Amino acid sequence: MGEKLYEIAVIPGDGIGPEVVDATLGVLSECEARYGIRLNHTTYDFSAELYRRTGRKITEADMDEIGQTKDAVLFGAMGLPEVRGPEGLELGAQVEMRAHYGLFASLRPVRLFAGVEGPLKHDHVDMLVIRETSEGMFAGLHDHHEPSDESATDRMTITRATCEKLFEVAFSQARARRKRGTIGRVTLLHKSNALRSNVLMEKVFDDFAARNTDVESAKFYIDVGAMYMVTDPDRYDVIVSENIFGDITSEIAAGIGGGLGIAPSADVSLSHGVFQPSHGSAPDIAGRGIANPVAMFLSAAMMLEWLGEQHRDALCTTVSQRIQAAVEKVLAEGPRTPDLGGTADTAAVRDAVIAALEP
Ligand code: NAD
Ligand code: MN
Repeated sequence: MGEKLYEIAVIPGDGIGPEVVDATLGVLSECEARYGIRLNHTTYDFSAELYRRTGRKITEADMDEIGQTKDAVLFGAMGLPEVRGPEGLELGAQVEMRAHYGLFASLRPVRLFAGVEGPLKHDHVDMLVIRETSEGMFAGLHDHHEPSDESATDRMTITRATCEKLFEVAFSQARARRKRGTIGRVTLLHKSNALRSNVLMEKVFDDFAARNTDVESAKFYIDVGAMYMVTDPDRYDVIVSENIFGDITSEIAAGIGGGLGIAPSADVSLSHGVFQPSHGSAPDIAGRGIANPVAMFLSAAMMLEWLGEQHRDALCTTVSQRIQAAVEKVLAEGPRTPDLGGTADTAAVRDAVIAALEP
């Protein structure tokens, strides 16, 4: 009683999005009953499916309303490959929200959990990829352009101001992670040998690292750094990179950690947060009830952890840890969905996680 009531905007989206969101709301409502956190959620139907039917998509006014009245956004997945806007690009409210709320950092932690078989010989993988999400290779998304079938251009822009905020997040994440036994190291993956924008990024990183020597720093060119993720993942604790490199390396990380079905993410600014699995709408398995809900559960746990930090609310932090512990137990002991070699459906994993929550 007397606990703070958090307003959560829930956007299920397309494909398996609504399936994993539904399972997650089941876990969250059990947490409310069991631990006394209070969440009030409002569901918004922004999806490629809605756009196909009605032409309606998320507007600036929608995002203003959500940004002003909600404490966090819980997002399933959005997009259907065959549903495209006028420029031939897919619909993605997640991309629009990043721009609207200035969400410059996407945190994508990957751990090889007990019971999950990764593709590498290494049995230890524990890294956090931080993808910059407000500029970099996506900087020109709204640039004027003349449609052409012969030539098309994208633009990579990197600014000092965003780099400084980004590295602040990266170094503080390394400090926070170190409390549970990681090495405390931030590695920049970049391409300063060929891209001017990355020369600036490297320079800002070097200056930042020199001022923050309590955390180790390292850097590699993105190409060899991507190889090291596979050959020698122990080099990495926190990885930080620009938008497209971070997009790709975070999915390499997800792969070596056992797949997209268990890879969560948090898109944050200093004041706003959108929490969603790293995966998309998985049209190939949608509607069959077999999507792995774990990435979405862990994203909800990241939401509670973030709310706990934002509002100095220790109960949120505790509940986040309880969800993570329950997920770990279920990954170790089963049941598991088919992407992890099991035969269970989404609902069975949800029920097992609920049963594994500490009383
Ligand atoms: P995807 O992540 O949807 O699927 C890739 C593969 O991983 C598929 O084989 C899928 O079945 C599997 N997979 C993904 N999540 C899973 C889960 N929870 N459980 C079990 N298996 C899972 O990527 P895609 O196929 O490249 O894209 C499909 C659609 O999703 C596209 O329209 C794309 O634009 C969109 N997308 C959206 C987001 C987002 O909402 N943030 C992110 C990526 C892709
Ligand atoms: Mn991606």
